[in-house]
Amino acid sequence: MSCTEAEKMIVPYINNELSPMELEDFMAHLETCESCREELEIHYMIDVGLKRLDDDDAVYDIVGDLRRKIEDSMRTLRRYFLLQVTRYAVGTLTAMALIVTVLLQLRLWVQSGFLFF
Ligand SMILES: [Zn+2]
Repeated sequence: MSCTEAEKMIVPYINNELSPMELEDFMAHLETCESCREELEIHYMIDVGLKRLDDDDAVYDIVGDLRRKIEDSMRTLRRYFLLQVTRYAVGTLTAMALIVTVLLQLRLWVQSGFLFF
């Protein structure tokens, strides 16, 4: 992903509007790109900072909040891909079970003389 693409995702990211695939690409880019991390920090500070202006909490920790948001995103991603892997594994096992069932059935048919090879 290029920096231009990553920059376009900053606002959707802050608003939690990225799909898991986009989120993965975005996170991967952030890990390697200092300038986009800074860009995200600035956007986040402005966006969240403005929303929090009315709060009593004057020493609100925006950078820490962003760090937590990013950690949260990583956790969400890990959960998402774990789920994908689980789904894939279950799907594969189901398919294998089906094949075994069919083979056993075929063997039964062959043994009973229902099918001739
Ligand atoms: Zn970048």
